[in-house]
Formats: sequence, C-alpha cells, structure tokens
Amino acid sequence: DLSGKTAVITGSNSGIGLGIAHELARAGADVVLNSYTDTPEDHALAEEIAAKHGVSARYIQADLSNGDQARALIEKAGVCDILVNNAGIQHVAPLDEFPVAKWDAIIAIMLSAAFHTTAVALPMMRKAGWGRVINIASAHGLTASPYKSAYVSAKHGLVGMTKVVALETAKEPITANAVCPGYVLTPLVESQIPDTAKKYDMTEEEVKQKVILERQPSKEFATTEQLGGTVAFLCSAAADQITGTTISVDGGWTAL
Ligand code: NAD
Repeated sequence: DLSGKTAVITGSNSGIGLGIAHELARAGADVVLNSYTDTPEDHALAEEIAAKHGVSARYIQADLSNGDQARALIEKAGVCDILVNNAGIQHVAPLDEFPVAKWDAIIAIMLSAAFHTTAVALPMMRKAGWGRVINIASAHGLTASPYKSAYVSAKHGLVGMTKVVALETAKEPITANAVCPGYVLTPLVESQIPDTAKKYDMTEEEVKQKVILERQPSKEFATTEQLGGTVAFLCSAAADQITGTTISVDGGWTAL
C-alpha cells in the first residue's frame, strides 16, 4: 500500500510514464506527472488519475533537457518518496552522421536529467526515512543495436548511475534500481513504424512482427500496465533488499 507516498514520474503525459503513474496511483500513491509541454490536456491527465484512483495528482511542466528545470521539477513537487526517471526520446542514425544536437538532447534528457532529479530527491527521501529511485532504462541499457549510439550510451550510463546511487544509499531505507523494457507499443515506437515500412516495402504489421519484434523472443510487445506493475513491485516491502540491479521486462530479448 503506497498511500501517503508521493511519486514523481518524469515524461508521464504519454506511454510508459503514464502507465506507471496509473499503477502507482492504483496502489495508493499521490502522483506528479511531467513533460515539457503545459497544455489543458496535460493537466486533465492528472485530474483523470485523481478521479479514477482517489489520490491527489498534479502536473508540473519542466523541460528535462535543461538541468535547472529538472532540479526545479523536484523542488516544485516539494516531496518525492518515489522518483521514476522515465522521460526519453529516440533518434536513429549512423554514428558518423549522428546530429550533434540530437546526441546532446538524448544524453541530457535520458542521463543528465536523472542525475539532477536524483540529486534533489535523495535529501527528501532521507528526511522522510524511505525512498525509491527507479530508472526506466531499456534492453538497450544492457545490449546494443546499430544506429542508436546516443540512446544506447544514455541507457548504459543510466544503468551505471543506478548502481552508484544504490551503493551510496545501501545502509539507508532507500533503494535504486533500473527497469529494462524490451519493445512496448508507445508513441516512441509507433513513430518509427511508417518510415521502416517504406524503407523495407513492408506493411506496418510486418514491420511490427519481423523488424521490431525480431529480437524479442516472445514476439509480443510488453505493455505499459506491465511496466507499471513492475515499478509498483519495486516500491513494495518485498523489494526492500532489491537494490542496484536491473529487472528486464523484454520477452526474453537479453536471454538471447
Ligand atoms: P513516449 O514518447 O510515449 O514517452 C516519452 C515521454 O517523455 C513523454 O511523456 C514525453 O513528453 C517525455 N519527454 C520527452 N522529452 C522530454 C523533455 N525534454 N522534458 C520532459 N519530458 C520529455 O515513449 P515511451 O516509450 O513511453 O518511453 C518512456 C521511456 O521508456 C523512455 O525513457 C524510453 O527510452 C523507455 N523505453 C521505451 C521502450 C519502448 O519500446 N517504448 C523500450 C525501452 C525503454
């Protein structure tokens, strides 16, 4: 039961982050949603969670490509018992052609932002006497694919930082872990499908089965509910001694 706890989930107006927010709210946590936009729809997502799960929910805008804004997000939340670093973007290109601005943005949003949010959240967790840092990495935090240099580097870095945070909090009632999803059908993945279909002269369904799920032995996408459930488990008492590790939710990808 997570009632009385507050969870801040970065990049949570869509996809996995939104799924995690719903599952933590279902378990009783108050939630803070975030993205870089600030639309009525963003705030409506928080209202929907509050109404559905009977918790308090807020939306706080912060562009996590900016370190000061990442820190301000946690400061504005005021309390952060559960920190889920989830915001992410993707760009695919050969390393020698990789746009420098894309490299910088991916490292900033997916690696440096987690450093900044964790730095502000840890003293809050220590004050509260309990805390969970959960970093949404990827199968690409453990293995690589061509043309994803920035993404693979950021995710490997995030897995490394997770271990450091776990060691620095090992004697405290705080844990730090990384969740490593395989493919989940979210806007981030869906946006890659039309171009791939064109490139290989395939239907979008063929792209899903033959290209995207090629490395996922289950041949099924993981769901945002499953990711939310995994995060909720890491927040439970059963996970008190789970720290500094990764949990793969990838249909067997990393067993290959
Ligand atoms: P998504 O595009 O649905 O969600 C990404 C979220 O990050 C959105 O809420 C977006 O607004 C937010 N975001 C992007 N740039 C931001 C910025 N500058 N500041 C604040 N927020 C920003 O994608 P998703 O698939 O739900 O991805 C969520 C996380 O899961 C990412 O870290 C991604 O790398 C990881 N992941 C996804 C998959 C997958 O198959 N979908 C697999 C492994 C890991």
